[in-house]
Amino acid sequence: MRTLLTSTDAARTILESIRPLPSETVPITAALGMVSASDVTSPIDLPHWDNSAMDGYAVRSEDVRGRCPVDLQIVEQIHAGAFPEVPLSGGQCARIFTGAPIPEGSDGVIRQEDTTVLPDGKVQVNDDRDSERNIRFRGEDIRLGTTVLKRGTELQPAHIGALASVARDQIAVYRRPRVAIMASGDEIADLSEKSAILEGRKIASSNSYTMSSMARQAGAEPVELGIVPDDPALLGEKLLGLPPADMLVSSGGVSVGDHDYFRRVFEELGGEMKFWRLRTRPGAPVAFGLWRGVPWLGLPGNPVSTMVTFELFVRPAIRVMLGHSTPFRKTVKARTTEPITLQAPLRHFLRVVLEDHGGELLAKLTGPQGSGILTSMATANALLIVPEDKQELPGGVELSAIRLNEVDHVNDVPY
Ligand code: AMP
Ligand code: MG
Repeated sequence: MRTLLTSTDAARTILESIRPLPSETVPITAALGMVSASDVTSPIDLPHWDNSAMDGYAVRSEDVRGRCPVDLQIVEQIHAGAFPEVPLSGGQCARIFTGAPIPEGSDGVIRQEDTTVLPDGKVQVNDDRDSERNIRFRGEDIRLGTTVLKRGTELQPAHIGALASVARDQIAVYRRPRVAIMASGDEIADLSEKSAILEGRKIASSNSYTMSSMARQAGAEPVELGIVPDDPALLGEKLLGLPPADMLVSSGGVSVGDHDYFRRVFEELGGEMKFWRLRTRPGAPVAFGLWRGVPWLGLPGNPVSTMVTFELFVRPAIRVMLGHSTPFRKTVKARTTEPITLQAPLRHFLRVVLEDHGGELLAKLTGPQGSGILTSMATANALLIVPEDKQELPGGVELSAIRLNEVDHVNDVPY
Protein backbone atom coordinates (compact mmCIF):
# COMPACT_ATOMS: atom_id res chain seq x y z
CA MET A 1 0.00 0.00 0.00
CA ARG A 2 2.80 2.44 0.87
CA THR A 3 4.78 2.16 -2.36
CA LEU A 4 5.58 5.41 -4.14
CA LEU A 5 3.17 5.94 -7.00
CA THR A 6 3.64 7.89 -10.19
CA SER A 7 1.27 10.79 -10.78
CA THR A 8 -0.43 8.64 -13.43
CA ASP A 9 -1.19 5.80 -11.01
CA ALA A 10 -2.18 8.25 -8.29
CA ALA A 11 -4.72 10.00 -10.52
CA ARG A 12 -6.16 6.64 -11.63
CA THR A 13 -6.37 5.36 -8.07
CA ILE A 14 -8.18 8.50 -6.92
CA LEU A 15 -10.72 8.35 -9.73
CA GLU A 16 -11.51 4.71 -8.92
CA SER A 17 -13.16 6.04 -5.75
CA ILE A 18 -15.02 8.91 -7.41
CA ARG A 19 -18.46 8.78 -9.04
CA PRO A 20 -20.71 11.42 -10.55
CA LEU A 21 -22.95 12.91 -7.85
CA PRO A 22 -26.72 12.37 -7.98
CA SER A 23 -28.57 14.64 -10.37
CA GLU A 24 -30.83 17.51 -9.39
CA THR A 25 -33.22 19.66 -11.38
CA VAL A 26 -32.25 23.30 -11.66
CA PRO A 27 -33.63 26.29 -13.57
CA ILE A 28 -31.81 26.63 -16.90
CA THR A 29 -30.62 30.05 -15.72
CA ALA A 30 -28.54 28.25 -13.06
CA ALA A 31 -27.26 25.48 -15.34
CA LEU A 32 -24.39 27.17 -17.16
CA GLY A 33 -21.25 25.01 -16.93
CA MET A 34 -23.09 22.08 -15.33
CA VAL A 35 -23.35 18.68 -17.04
CA SER A 36 -26.74 17.42 -18.18
CA ALA A 37 -27.85 14.23 -16.46
CA SER A 38 -30.46 13.10 -18.99
CA ASP A 39 -31.32 13.42 -22.68
CA VAL A 40 -33.82 16.14 -23.52
CA THR A 41 -36.20 15.65 -26.44
CA SER A 42 -38.22 18.38 -28.07
CA PRO A 43 -41.99 18.61 -27.51
CA ILE A 44 -42.33 20.82 -30.62
CA ASP A 45 -41.10 21.41 -34.12
CA LEU A 46 -38.77 24.38 -34.33
CA PRO A 47 -39.54 26.62 -36.07
CA HIS A 48 -43.16 25.90 -35.33
CA TRP A 49 -44.30 27.06 -38.79
CA ASP A 50 -42.78 27.81 -42.19
CA ASN A 51 -41.68 31.43 -41.89
CA SER A 52 -39.98 34.18 -43.80
CA ALA A 53 -36.21 34.66 -43.71
CA MET A 54 -36.55 38.11 -45.32
CA ASP A 55 -38.47 41.35 -45.27
CA GLY A 56 -40.29 41.29 -48.62
CA TYR A 57 -43.20 39.66 -50.43
CA ALA A 58 -44.48 36.10 -50.12
CA VAL A 59 -45.30 34.89 -53.63
CA ARG A 60 -46.27 31.87 -55.68
CA SER A 61 -43.01 31.24 -57.49
CA GLU A 62 -44.80 30.22 -60.68
CA ASP A 63 -46.09 33.83 -60.87
CA VAL A 64 -42.59 35.31 -60.98
CA ARG A 65 -40.18 32.74 -62.39
CA GLY A 66 -39.10 33.87 -65.91
CA ARG A 67 -41.75 36.63 -65.88
CA CYS A 68 -39.99 39.62 -64.29
CA PRO A 69 -40.79 42.40 -64.15
CA VAL A 70 -44.29 41.36 -63.07
CA ASP A 71 -47.01 43.13 -61.07
CA LEU A 72 -48.70 41.33 -58.18
CA GLN A 73 -51.68 42.31 -56.03
CA ILE A 74 -50.91 42.60 -52.29
CA VAL A 75 -53.67 40.79 -50.38
CA GLU A 76 -52.47 41.28 -46.81
CA GLN A 77 -49.62 42.37 -44.54
CA ILE A 78 -48.08 39.77 -42.20
CA HIS A 79 -45.71 41.05 -39.55
CA ALA A 80 -43.77 38.89 -37.09
CA GLY A 81 -46.28 38.03 -34.38
CA ALA A 82 -49.27 37.94 -36.80
CA PHE A 83 -50.73 34.96 -38.65
CA PRO A 84 -51.79 34.94 -42.32
CA GLU A 85 -55.51 34.94 -43.02
CA VAL A 86 -55.70 34.82 -46.83
CA PRO A 87 -54.39 31.98 -49.03
CA LEU A 88 -52.61 33.24 -52.17
CA SER A 89 -54.21 32.77 -55.60
CA GLY A 90 -52.64 33.46 -59.00
CA GLY A 91 -51.22 36.97 -59.35
CA GLN A 92 -51.36 37.65 -55.62
CA CYS A 93 -48.70 38.20 -52.95
CA ALA A 94 -48.51 39.16 -49.26
CA ARG A 95 -46.30 41.80 -47.73
CA ILE A 96 -44.27 39.84 -45.16
CA PHE A 97 -41.57 40.46 -42.58
CA THR A 98 -38.75 38.30 -41.17
CA GLY A 99 -40.07 35.59 -38.86
CA ALA A 100 -43.71 35.90 -39.93
CA PRO A 101 -45.56 32.71 -40.99
CA ILE A 102 -45.78 32.04 -44.74
CA PRO A 103 -49.34 32.21 -46.15
CA GLU A 104 -50.90 29.16 -47.75
CA GLY A 105 -50.06 28.92 -51.45
CA SER A 106 -46.74 30.76 -51.15
CA ASP A 107 -43.44 29.00 -51.80
CA GLY A 108 -40.94 31.86 -51.80
CA VAL A 109 -40.23 35.31 -50.44
CA ILE A 110 -38.95 38.06 -52.77
CA ARG A 111 -36.63 40.39 -50.88
CA GLN A 112 -37.98 43.92 -50.86
CA GLU A 113 -34.83 45.26 -52.55
CA ASP A 114 -35.99 43.44 -55.72
CA THR A 115 -39.40 45.15 -55.79
CA THR A 116 -41.02 48.52 -56.58
CA VAL A 117 -44.18 49.57 -54.78
CA LEU A 118 -46.97 50.58 -57.23
CA PRO A 119 -50.23 52.42 -56.62
CA ASP A 120 -53.54 50.56 -56.04
CA GLY A 121 -52.07 48.01 -53.61
CA LYS A 122 -49.73 46.47 -56.14
CA VAL A 123 -46.03 45.68 -56.17
CA GLN A 124 -43.69 45.05 -59.11
CA VAL A 125 -41.23 42.18 -58.76
CA ASN A 126 -38.05 43.05 -60.69
CA ASP A 127 -36.02 39.90 -60.24
CA ASP A 128 -37.02 36.22 -59.87
CA ARG A 129 -33.82 35.09 -58.09
CA ASP A 130 -35.78 34.54 -54.85
CA SER A 131 -38.44 32.24 -56.30
CA GLU A 132 -38.73 29.18 -54.02
CA ARG A 133 -36.27 30.77 -51.62
CA ASN A 134 -36.09 32.54 -48.24
CA ILE A 135 -38.42 30.22 -46.35
CA ARG A 136 -37.35 28.69 -43.03
CA PHE A 137 -39.27 25.44 -42.90
CA ARG A 138 -41.17 24.01 -39.96
CA GLY A 139 -38.90 21.70 -37.96
CA GLU A 140 -35.75 22.51 -39.93
CA ASP A 141 -33.85 23.31 -36.71
CA ILE A 142 -35.35 20.79 -34.28
CA ARG A 143 -37.98 18.12 -35.00
CA LEU A 144 -40.60 17.15 -32.47
CA GLY A 145 -39.37 14.10 -30.54
CA THR A 146 -35.71 14.45 -31.49
CA THR A 147 -32.86 15.01 -29.03
CA VAL A 148 -32.15 18.64 -28.22
CA LEU A 149 -29.48 17.86 -25.66
CA LYS A 150 -27.56 14.68 -24.88
CA ARG A 151 -26.82 13.48 -21.37
CA GLY A 152 -23.25 14.37 -20.39
CA THR A 153 -23.14 17.70 -22.20
CA GLU A 154 -21.41 20.60 -20.48
CA LEU A 155 -24.00 23.32 -20.77
CA GLN A 156 -22.81 26.29 -22.80
CA PRO A 157 -24.88 29.38 -23.64
CA ALA A 158 -26.07 27.81 -26.92
CA HIS A 159 -27.36 24.72 -25.09
CA ILE A 160 -29.25 26.91 -22.63
CA GLY A 161 -30.72 28.75 -25.63
CA ALA A 162 -31.74 25.49 -27.33
CA LEU A 163 -33.53 24.39 -24.13
CA ALA A 164 -35.30 27.73 -23.87
CA SER A 165 -36.38 27.55 -27.50
CA VAL A 166 -38.30 24.32 -26.83
CA ALA A 167 -39.80 25.80 -23.64
CA ARG A 168 -37.67 23.78 -21.19
CA ASP A 169 -37.15 26.01 -18.18
CA GLN A 170 -35.56 23.33 -16.00
CA ILE A 171 -32.88 20.74 -16.58
CA ALA A 172 -31.49 17.74 -14.69
CA VAL A 173 -27.76 18.20 -14.02
CA TYR A 174 -25.21 16.41 -11.87
CA ARG A 175 -25.06 18.16 -8.54
CA ARG A 176 -22.21 20.57 -7.84
CA PRO A 177 -19.78 18.96 -5.38
CA ARG A 178 -19.27 20.60 -1.99
CA VAL A 179 -15.55 20.53 -1.35
CA ALA A 180 -14.49 21.08 2.25
CA ILE A 181 -11.22 23.00 2.41
CA MET A 182 -8.96 22.82 5.46
CA ALA A 183 -5.56 24.38 6.09
CA SER A 184 -3.22 23.22 8.84
CA GLY A 185 -0.20 24.50 10.70
CA ASP A 186 0.63 26.43 13.88
CA GLU A 187 2.38 29.11 11.83
CA ILE A 188 -0.65 29.76 9.59
CA ALA A 189 -3.20 32.52 10.10
CA ASP A 190 -6.31 33.64 8.36
CA LEU A 191 -6.60 37.22 7.10
CA SER A 192 -8.74 38.00 10.13
CA GLU A 193 -5.37 38.00 11.95
CA LYS A 194 -3.92 40.56 9.62
CA SER A 195 -1.65 42.25 12.17
CA ALA A 196 0.02 38.95 13.10
CA ILE A 197 0.82 38.49 9.42
CA LEU A 198 1.99 42.04 8.83
CA GLU A 199 4.12 42.00 11.99
CA GLY A 200 5.78 38.75 10.94
CA ARG A 201 4.44 36.50 13.72
CA LYS A 202 2.34 34.31 11.39
CA ILE A 203 2.15 33.60 7.67
CA ALA A 204 -1.04 34.04 5.73
CA SER A 205 -2.95 30.91 4.78
CA SER A 206 -2.68 31.61 1.09
CA ASN A 207 -3.52 27.95 0.45
CA SER A 208 -7.02 28.45 1.83
CA TYR A 209 -7.56 31.04 -0.87
CA THR A 210 -5.88 29.24 -3.76
CA MET A 211 -7.65 25.95 -2.96
CA SER A 212 -11.11 27.46 -2.68
CA SER A 213 -10.61 29.52 -5.86
CA MET A 214 -9.42 26.45 -7.73
CA ALA A 215 -12.37 24.45 -6.41
CA ARG A 216 -14.75 27.14 -7.59
CA GLN A 217 -13.02 27.40 -10.96
CA ALA A 218 -13.36 23.64 -11.41
CA GLY A 219 -17.12 23.93 -10.78
CA ALA A 220 -17.30 22.93 -7.11
CA GLU A 221 -18.73 24.79 -4.16
CA PRO A 222 -15.99 25.33 -1.57
CA VAL A 223 -16.88 24.90 2.09
CA GLU A 224 -14.30 26.73 4.23
CA LEU A 225 -13.19 24.83 7.31
CA GLY A 226 -10.50 27.31 8.32
CA ILE A 227 -7.18 26.42 9.89
CA VAL A 228 -6.43 23.58 12.30
CA PRO A 229 -3.27 23.85 14.45
CA ASP A 230 -0.59 21.15 14.57
CA ASP A 231 -2.33 19.42 17.46
CA PRO A 232 -3.60 15.83 17.14
CA ALA A 233 -6.52 16.39 19.52
CA LEU A 234 -7.78 19.47 17.72
CA LEU A 235 -7.27 17.84 14.33
CA GLY A 236 -9.26 14.83 15.53
CA GLU A 237 -12.08 17.07 16.74
CA LYS A 238 -12.14 18.81 13.39
CA LEU A 239 -12.32 15.53 11.48
CA LEU A 240 -15.05 14.13 13.71
CA GLY A 241 -17.15 17.27 13.35
CA LEU A 242 -16.81 17.60 9.59
CA PRO A 243 -19.85 19.24 7.95
CA PRO A 244 -21.48 17.37 5.06
CA ALA A 245 -19.21 17.46 2.02
CA ASP A 246 -18.51 15.40 -1.09
CA MET A 247 -14.75 15.72 -0.75
CA LEU A 248 -12.26 16.91 1.84
CA VAL A 249 -9.11 18.70 0.72
CA SER A 250 -6.48 19.71 3.24
CA SER A 251 -3.10 21.37 2.94
CA GLY A 252 -0.08 20.78 5.09
CA GLY A 253 0.69 18.33 7.88
CA VAL A 254 1.08 15.27 5.63
CA SER A 255 4.86 15.27 5.29
CA VAL A 256 7.47 13.58 7.51
CA GLY A 257 7.99 16.36 10.08
CA ASP A 258 7.46 15.80 13.81
CA HIS A 259 4.39 18.02 13.64
CA ASP A 260 2.80 16.40 10.59
CA TYR A 261 -0.04 14.62 12.38
CA PHE A 262 -2.59 14.34 9.65
CA ARG A 263 -2.07 10.76 8.51
CA ARG A 264 -1.71 9.38 12.03
CA VAL A 265 -4.87 11.03 13.33
CA PHE A 266 -6.78 10.17 10.20
CA GLU A 267 -5.96 6.47 10.53
CA GLU A 268 -6.39 6.32 14.30
CA LEU A 269 -9.91 7.65 13.92
CA GLY A 270 -10.79 5.09 11.29
CA GLY A 271 -9.91 6.85 8.05
CA GLU A 272 -9.01 4.47 5.23
CA MET A 273 -5.61 5.41 3.72
CA LYS A 274 -5.31 4.56 0.05
CA PHE A 275 -1.87 5.97 -0.69
CA TRP A 276 0.73 8.42 0.53
CA ARG A 277 3.73 9.88 -1.30
CA LEU A 278 4.32 10.16 -5.00
CA ARG A 279 7.34 10.17 -7.24
CA THR A 280 6.68 13.77 -8.25
CA ARG A 281 8.05 17.23 -7.57
CA PRO A 282 6.49 19.41 -6.45
CA GLY A 283 3.98 17.45 -4.48
CA ALA A 284 5.64 14.28 -3.21
CA PRO A 285 3.78 13.98 0.11
CA VAL A 286 0.26 13.75 -1.29
CA ALA A 287 -2.10 11.55 0.71
CA PHE A 288 -5.36 10.02 -0.42
CA GLY A 289 -7.91 8.17 1.63
CA LEU A 290 -11.57 7.82 2.47
CA TRP A 291 -12.99 9.47 5.56
CA ARG A 292 -16.33 7.80 6.31
CA GLY A 293 -16.70 7.21 2.58
CA VAL A 294 -15.78 10.79 1.66
CA PRO A 295 -12.62 11.10 -0.45
CA TRP A 296 -9.84 12.99 1.35
CA LEU A 297 -6.92 14.53 -0.51
CA GLY A 298 -4.13 15.64 1.78
CA LEU A 299 -2.05 18.08 -0.21
CA PRO A 300 1.40 19.25 0.83
CA GLY A 301 1.52 22.69 2.43
CA ASN A 302 4.04 24.47 0.25
CA PRO A 303 1.94 26.90 -1.75
CA VAL A 304 3.17 25.76 -5.18
CA SER A 305 2.86 22.08 -4.23
CA THR A 306 -0.68 22.71 -3.05
CA MET A 307 -1.71 24.32 -6.31
CA VAL A 308 0.08 21.84 -8.57
CA THR A 309 -1.35 18.81 -6.77
CA PHE A 310 -4.80 20.40 -6.73
CA GLU A 311 -4.54 20.78 -10.50
CA LEU A 312 -3.27 17.21 -10.99
CA PHE A 313 -5.54 15.33 -8.58
CA VAL A 314 -8.36 17.37 -7.09
CA ARG A 315 -9.62 19.10 -10.21
CA PRO A 316 -10.12 15.81 -12.15
CA ALA A 317 -12.01 14.37 -9.17
CA ILE A 318 -14.29 17.41 -9.08
CA ARG A 319 -14.93 17.03 -12.81
CA VAL A 320 -15.93 13.39 -12.42
CA MET A 321 -18.37 14.33 -9.63
CA LEU A 322 -19.78 17.00 -11.93
CA GLY A 323 -20.55 14.31 -14.51
CA HIS A 324 -17.77 15.03 -16.99
CA SER A 325 -16.49 11.98 -18.87
CA THR A 326 -13.19 13.77 -19.55
CA PRO A 327 -11.51 14.61 -16.23
CA PHE A 328 -8.07 15.65 -17.44
CA ARG A 329 -6.81 18.66 -19.34
CA LYS A 330 -5.35 17.69 -22.68
CA THR A 331 -1.59 18.21 -22.79
CA VAL A 332 0.33 19.98 -25.55
CA LYS A 333 3.86 19.55 -26.90
CA ALA A 334 6.33 22.29 -26.06
CA ARG A 335 10.06 22.80 -26.62
CA THR A 336 12.46 23.83 -23.87
CA THR A 337 14.42 27.04 -24.46
CA GLU A 338 17.20 26.57 -21.91
CA PRO A 339 19.18 23.75 -20.29
CA ILE A 340 17.42 22.37 -17.22
CA THR A 341 19.07 20.48 -14.38
CA LEU A 342 16.89 18.66 -11.86
CA GLN A 343 18.04 17.37 -8.49
CA ALA A 344 16.13 14.12 -8.18
CA PRO A 345 14.82 11.30 -10.37
CA LEU A 346 11.21 12.38 -9.89
CA ARG A 347 8.55 13.42 -12.38
CA HIS A 348 8.75 17.20 -12.33
CA PHE A 349 6.00 19.68 -13.09
CA LEU A 350 7.89 22.88 -13.83
CA ARG A 351 6.21 26.27 -13.94
CA VAL A 352 6.66 27.69 -17.41
CA VAL A 353 5.34 30.32 -19.74
CA LEU A 354 4.41 28.83 -23.10
CA GLU A 355 4.71 31.11 -26.08
CA ASP A 356 3.59 30.36 -29.61
CA HIS A 357 6.40 30.90 -32.13
CA GLY A 358 5.05 30.26 -35.61
CA GLY A 359 2.91 27.32 -34.52
CA GLU A 360 5.50 25.84 -32.17
CA LEU A 361 5.14 26.25 -28.41
CA LEU A 362 8.28 27.32 -26.59
CA ALA A 363 8.53 26.80 -22.83
CA LYS A 364 10.39 29.31 -20.65
CA LEU A 365 10.86 28.62 -16.96
CA THR A 366 9.20 31.28 -14.80
CA GLY A 367 12.39 31.55 -12.73
CA PRO A 368 13.34 29.78 -9.48
CA GLN A 369 11.24 26.64 -9.11
CA GLY A 370 11.14 26.32 -5.31
CA SER A 371 7.84 24.96 -4.08
CA GLY A 372 7.39 27.95 -1.77
CA ILE A 373 7.59 30.47 -4.60
CA LEU A 374 3.90 31.12 -5.19
CA THR A 375 4.60 33.92 -7.65
CA SER A 376 6.01 31.27 -10.03
CA MET A 377 2.44 29.93 -10.26
CA ALA A 378 1.04 33.40 -10.78
CA THR A 379 3.38 33.98 -13.74
CA ALA A 380 3.09 30.50 -15.26
CA ASN A 381 0.54 29.57 -17.88
CA ALA A 382 1.55 25.90 -17.99
CA LEU A 383 3.25 23.04 -16.18
CA LEU A 384 6.06 21.41 -18.15
CA ILE A 385 6.22 17.67 -17.48
CA VAL A 386 9.75 16.30 -17.18
CA PRO A 387 9.85 12.48 -16.92
CA GLU A 388 11.69 10.93 -13.96
CA ASP A 389 14.52 9.58 -16.16
CA LYS A 390 15.52 13.06 -17.37
CA GLN A 391 17.58 15.12 -14.94
CA GLU A 392 19.90 16.89 -17.39
CA LEU A 393 18.07 18.47 -20.29
CA PRO A 394 19.65 20.62 -22.99
CA GLY A 395 17.57 23.39 -24.55
CA GLY A 396 15.39 22.44 -27.51
CA VAL A 397 13.90 19.23 -26.09
CA GLU A 398 10.25 18.49 -26.81
CA LEU A 399 8.13 17.63 -23.76
CA SER A 400 4.45 17.57 -22.78
CA ALA A 401 2.92 20.46 -20.90
CA ILE A 402 -0.38 21.11 -19.15
CA ARG A 403 -1.77 24.50 -20.05
CA LEU A 404 -3.42 25.89 -16.96
CA ASN A 405 -6.23 27.44 -18.99
CA GLU A 406 -6.68 24.46 -21.35
CA VAL A 407 -10.35 23.89 -22.10
CA ASP A 408 -9.97 20.62 -24.02
CA HIS A 409 -10.12 17.58 -21.81
CA VAL A 410 -9.37 13.88 -22.19
CA ASN A 411 -10.54 10.67 -20.65
CA ASP A 412 -7.24 9.13 -19.47
CA VAL A 413 -4.40 10.70 -17.40
CA PRO A 414 -1.91 12.36 -19.75
CA TYR A 415 0.64 13.10 -16.96
P1 AMP B 1 3.77 21.32 5.65
O1 AMP B 1 3.29 20.58 4.45
O2 AMP B 1 2.79 21.41 6.75
O3 AMP B 1 5.11 20.77 6.12
O4 AMP B 1 4.06 22.81 5.17
C1 AMP B 1 5.05 23.06 4.19
C2 AMP B 1 5.25 24.54 4.04
O5 AMP B 1 4.07 25.11 3.55
C3 AMP B 1 5.60 25.28 5.30
O6 AMP B 1 6.59 26.25 4.98
C4 AMP B 1 4.31 25.92 5.69
O7 AMP B 1 4.52 27.10 6.39
C5 AMP B 1 3.66 26.20 4.35
N1 AMP B 1 2.22 26.20 4.47
C6 AMP B 1 1.49 25.24 5.07
N2 AMP B 1 0.17 25.55 5.02
C7 AMP B 1 0.07 26.73 4.37
C8 AMP B 1 -1.02 27.57 4.03
N3 AMP B 1 -2.27 27.23 4.36
N4 AMP B 1 -0.78 28.71 3.35
C9 AMP B 1 0.50 29.03 3.04
N5 AMP B 1 1.57 28.28 3.34
C10 AMP B 1 1.38 27.14 4.01
MG1 MG C 1 2.89 22.11 8.67
